[in-house]
Amino acid sequence: MNRDKFGQTLSKYKLGIVLHTEDIIINPWFRLLEVDATQMCRGMDSAPIDFCFSDSNSIQAYAIYEERMVVVTKGMFSMISKLAMIMVSKKMFPALGSVGDPEWSPKLERTTIPLRQLLNSEEFDWVNRRPEWIASKERQGLFFYLLLSLFRFVVLHEIGHIVNKHGDKHRTASAFEVDQVGGSTLSREQAVSSQAKESVADHFAFHRFLNLLHRELKLKGEDELLLMLKPHLFSDVTGEIGYSLMVSYLFFSIMDRGDWWAGDPYTFSHPPAPFRVRTLLAGVQEFGAIGLNADECGLAVAKAALGAEAIVATSFGRFPDMYWLDSVSGESYKNIYQEIFEELPKWQWNG
Ligand SMILES: [Zn+2]
Repeated sequence: MNRDKFGQTLSKYKLGIVLHTEDIIINPWFRLLEVDATQMCRGMDSAPIDFCFSDSNSIQAYAIYEERMVVVTKGMFSMISKLAMIMVSKKMFPALGSVGDPEWSPKLERTTIPLRQLLNSEEFDWVNRRPEWIASKERQGLFFYLLLSLFRFVVLHEIGHIVNKHGDKHRTASAFEVDQVGGSTLSREQAVSSQAKESVADHFAFHRFLNLLHRELKLKGEDELLLMLKPHLFSDVTGEIGYSLMVSYLFFSIMDRGDWWAGDPYTFSHPPAPFRVRTLLAGVQEFGAIGLNADECGLAVAKAALGAEAIVATSFGRFPDMYWLDSVSGESYKNIYQEIFEELPKWQWNG
């Protein structure tokens, strides 16, 4: 790893300084997963892509085009660490470690605020605030794998911007892409292009994530961690699709602005979370994935959509939104989504 070179690139675009992961004592997972991201970035495209963390508390990830670099902020990684911690502590996947059924005590006031605000209330500190399940090999394995999965999805989304050449000078003027919690506000013309780019990066991330999982299960099927998790998280190929959709859904939910129903969709940099999920579902149902046909995928999709919302509701003590998939189907969204769909081929690189 060349931290001097990465530091120069970050400073060129005023994106802060490189994080020295070995210094983050309270979250040792930074160091471990930096290695995973570095390896993943190297092998994803015909030319290598670099990876580093930046030392910033903002919740962001960047794709820098000319230098072919993916950057994740300290704040983003801390947020997904907290999400994985909450899920394991709230007894999701209870058969792993036989922890008993999760207790669900929903509160209305927790249901109406964005998820990221619920995550921000507790600091992530693996060393001084050891979770009570720390002695359980199964619970610790689950925590690690959820964190790894969420992190891979973030990195793959950024790789998706680079591989699909979203920084191509003939198509856009931006030197780098920013994915931040809540997104940002743009002009009408920029917003449609931006949301189309995001949808392309989402598709890339989802399919690469799923293929990576599928390949690892085939090649490293005897790995102790995967053997332990497989019956609970992804027992067959339908389960692999379901798990990949759950990870995407969790990421979209925490990144979502949360108040999009009150705003003008023609000014959003990123589509609302339900729309991002819908476009993934539509793609999987129409074209299939990892050797399953469209009908078989449809079943996986239906199960995963309900399951992911139930996990969020239980982990955060919220009432589930049973209509979240329908919430962006109204008349007011019809035109903009038609425009986004028409714009998609422009941002999909097939060369
Ligand atoms: Zn993006």
